[in-house]
Amino acid sequence: MNYTAINPYNDQIVATFPTTTDEQLQSTIKLADEFYQDASRQATHERMTALVALADEFENDLAYYAHFLTTNMGKLQREAIDEVKKTAAMARFYGEYGDQFLINKDYPSASAPNSYVEYRPTGVVVAIEPWNFPYTQVMRMFAPNFLLGNAVILKHASIVPECAQAFQHACQKVNLPRGAFTNLFADYGQIDKLIADRRVQGVALTGSEKAGRIIAASAGKALKQSTMELGGTDVFIVLKDADIFQAAQAAAKARLSNAGQVCASAKRYLIADEIYDEFMQQLTAVFATYQPGDPSLATTNLAPLSSKNAQAKLQQQVTDVLAGGAKIIWGDAKPIDGPGAFFNPLIITGMAFDNPMYDTELFGPVAQVYRIKNDADILKLANTSNHGLGGAIYTQDIEHAKILAHYIETGQVAINQVLSSQSEIPFGGIKDSGYGRELSDLGILAFANIKAIIN
Ligand code: NAP
Repeated sequence: MNYTAINPYNDQIVATFPTTTDEQLQSTIKLADEFYQDASRQATHERMTALVALADEFENDLAYYAHFLTTNMGKLQREAIDEVKKTAAMARFYGEYGDQFLINKDYPSASAPNSYVEYRPTGVVVAIEPWNFPYTQVMRMFAPNFLLGNAVILKHASIVPECAQAFQHACQKVNLPRGAFTNLFADYGQIDKLIADRRVQGVALTGSEKAGRIIAASAGKALKQSTMELGGTDVFIVLKDADIFQAAQAAAKARLSNAGQVCASAKRYLIADEIYDEFMQQLTAVFATYQPGDPSLATTNLAPLSSKNAQAKLQQQVTDVLAGGAKIIWGDAKPIDGPGAFFNPLIITGMAFDNPMYDTELFGPVAQVYRIKNDADILKLANTSNHGLGGAIYTQDIEHAKILAHYIETGQVAINQVLSSQSEIPFGGIKDSGYGRELSDLGILAFANIKAIIN
């Protein structure tokens, strides 16, 4: 298996790394298990201090860490800086507030009035992470588990090896205890071995449904806890009383940031009939300002996709979507030649329920639009989906938005803002978007032993 970073802007190989040996795999599990044994006897505040130091490390060297995001998966320079800041913020959140989530909770009963639960670590957990947010995805798994006392072994996406290495470098620079975090350039067989190992107690995957089904099956076979953070086809609803300018700006940002490669993003626009024409006029004007370019330049606003493979896959999906009866209403579906993995932004309409591509996540700058007449239309479209990740609603009527949000079958819905993960708020999906929650207190509980002491 090949861990190689190829710059998607110019198709040049940046770095390549050998696969982990079985000896390295075994020594990593041993060290990780030793960390868990030590941490389960250590005070939480020591790990909180270490998380604050880790946050400082990322924040004090933004450009260094951001660089690998741009060269390994093509992230725009300013989005890369934002990701490093967000990574630091997640570590700081658990570093500053983590102990509040670990306070014992009383569970009195008639026969045992002084009973309580305490939150204990369980062992080593494996984090299998995607390339689209190479640092935040790792941190949102690592910080809560480290706080609790679990060791984390990372298997990152094979196209972002330098990002994986940079995360390891940050951990070493602040002298995290050996075994607390280890990146491995493991192959799929080694991941299976890890999951089956008795010292490993859980696996968290963020990625595609295909990988989710495979890893969840391995975890099930080994009776290990798992969380699955998978893809989505989120709706972005604009009601007739919305601030159209604000909604159009946000809709474009939500679909085109990170070159459209965001799990919880505006993949399907649901626009009220009364404002449809005006909204589309404003939206297409904003889309037209996005121009592909060198992601390392501060002036560029549309990054390449993460790889030539991603470009070819999306091109084929768009061909299939159109063959299934949908139509392009804005943009040019012609492939962009040249070494860069660029993709032109597109807006598609007419995606009917019987289109074979209806439930497919299009992971790039391709938006679908629907004209809606009432709440029944909204809920039918929103909930006729195999996915259940997120959604957003724009309206002046917050109570109306809350009612719609209540009935939308997803893990989170944002009101008058672009949906984005935040340290304080649980994040995760339902249906084929996966299960389990990351971030907030729930992120700590995902791989905790919630132990009842009956007294
Ligand atoms: P992917 O192909 O499933 O890869 C994700 C990770 O899983 C990578 O590290 C990959 O390693 C690994 N992997 C894949 N198959 C595996 C197997 N059989 N055994 C062990 N590891 C395996 O997904 P992706 O294309 O990188 O990521 C994009 C997807 O992630 C999108 O669907 C997106 O919506 C989703 N996502 C979801 C969230 C969320 O919070 N819900 C957040 C971000 C992204 P290799 O690279 O070596 O194949």
